[in-house]
Amino acid sequence: MPITVVDPQRVEALVAELQAALPGAVSTDKGDLDRASTDGSHLSPVIAAQLPLGRAQVVVTPASVDDIPVVVRAAVRHGVPITPRGKGTANYGQTLPMAGGIVLDLSRLRRVVEVGDGFLTAEAGAALIAVEQAANRAGQQVLLYPSTAQSTIGGFVSGGSGGTGSIRHGMLHTGFVTALDVVHATTDAEIVHLEGEATEPYLHKYGTVAIIARVTVRLEPLQDWRALFASFDDFHDLVGVIQRIGALEPTPRLVSGDGAVLAAALPKDPAIVPGTASLRAILDEATVAEATALIEAAGGTVVDVRSGPQACIKLSMTSYNHPIEWLQKAYPNTYFHVEVLGDGLVDRLDELEAVYPGGMLHIEAQRGRPIGMLAGRYSSPEEVYAGFPRIEALGIGYHNPHQWFVDYEPEATRELAATTDPHGILNPGKLDVAPTVDTGSQL
Ligand SMILES: Cc1cc2nc3c(=O)[nH]c(=O)nc-3n(C[C@H](O)[C@H](O)[C@H](O)COP(=O)(O)OP(=O)(O)OC[C@H]3O[C@@H](n4cnc5c(N)ncnc54)[C@H](O)[C@@H]3O)c2cc1C
Repeated sequence: MPITVVDPQRVEALVAELQAALPGAVSTDKGDLDRASTDGSHLSPVIAAQLPLGRAQVVVTPASVDDIPVVVRAAVRHGVPITPRGKGTANYGQTLPMAGGIVLDLSRLRRVVEVGDGFLTAEAGAALIAVEQAANRAGQQVLLYPSTAQSTIGGFVSGGSGGTGSIRHGMLHTGFVTALDVVHATTDAEIVHLEGEATEPYLHKYGTVAIIARVTVRLEPLQDWRALFASFDDFHDLVGVIQRIGALEPTPRLVSGDGAVLAAALPKDPAIVPGTASLRAILDEATVAEATALIEAAGGTVVDVRSGPQACIKLSMTSYNHPIEWLQKAYPNTYFHVEVLGDGLVDRLDELEAVYPGGMLHIEAQRGRPIGMLAGRYSSPEEVYAGFPRIEALGIGYHNPHQWFVDYEPEATRELAATTDPHGILNPGKLDVAPTVDTGSQL
């Protein structure tokens, strides 16, 4: 696919202006441009086949949140696009600078600004793992963090959905974020403070409506967590009990399950037993005995129970999309996945896995309905899309992870962007083209 770039003379004028205003923050080094032009979209063979989809012409790495409006005002004046970037782990191509221009790398803005009673404020580039550790030091914990714990809080609230903590607290849109400092792409751009419901339209918008400079999230009291590993000879038995483990009180932070092939692709761990299905859970210490009884009654065996935050973070890094990534590492160029949701994951497991050749489910317990990633052997985009109605026919919801458009409230997002980004310079390409296939319900 031909790569779109901005007239180089316009970019040169912008670079000169930014170098003068923000010395040391501006790079046109080839290696920096290369690194800023990739993300986690290799997870989708459909998107990977279309790469490269964009290339940065300049990378700006602000050292202070106050530099963000300076960059934005200059970009508006010169008519140069800006694609914000945290850690670049987004797996739908959301972070690719499809119209060229600036990649605004926020990773140096990583200060945890304040930890209060029940809240934490951090700069957008703070890693979730650092945010969780700062909360832990104050006897608290974040409500949610993704399996990419090294990714940034700004990237998570702009491109992510949920993760560890979601069984109890749901996804991004359920009260996790309490305040944002944002910068709109206008000629007089400055930092704007938003609170409560006013933050909602800015979540999961791929940086198309504003650059997020600071994020305030809710905290809760720290719990005494355990990382539990269990094995099952039959994946059906694991799937049959996973929601009951997820329903324990105090609510588990995470309960993930994989059949033997997916489990074998995970990083080697003595508690993941070769040839068996693997259940991994982050449980409140008070529920370990009850969970063990449920596992044993379902035909499983508890292999290990570990203490400490490191054990729990490590376990969380084998949840959500990670088993798919490990599967792809074990079998290069072989598998794709579709996000799936509903009781059918439990009740119609065999039919669901039969939708695609080599079908395998990774499952996560959730309050209400479980969610999961259905892996299948990849042949063509058409074969991937042909499976969607078959998944729906089983009464199972799906979300298509092979496209980069904002598909959470797209109309409202376009309306907001018309005001907050009137020149259309924020992460172009993510709002303006309608998907060719129904992308399903957002997970
Ligand atoms: C193997 C794997 C596992 C994953 N597991 C999970 C998971 O468990 N849960 C989950 O929700 N996601 C998951 N993801 C997706 C992704 O890793 C997360 O959403 C992550 O939190 C994104 O953070 P990031 O810093 O990498 O953001 P980036 O990839 O840098 O950015 C994500 C999006 O947000 C925009 N953006 C970044 N920073 C800002 C900002 N400050 N202001 C405005 N816009 C911004 C970018 O332009 C892009 O559109 C996974 C991805 C992979 C590859």
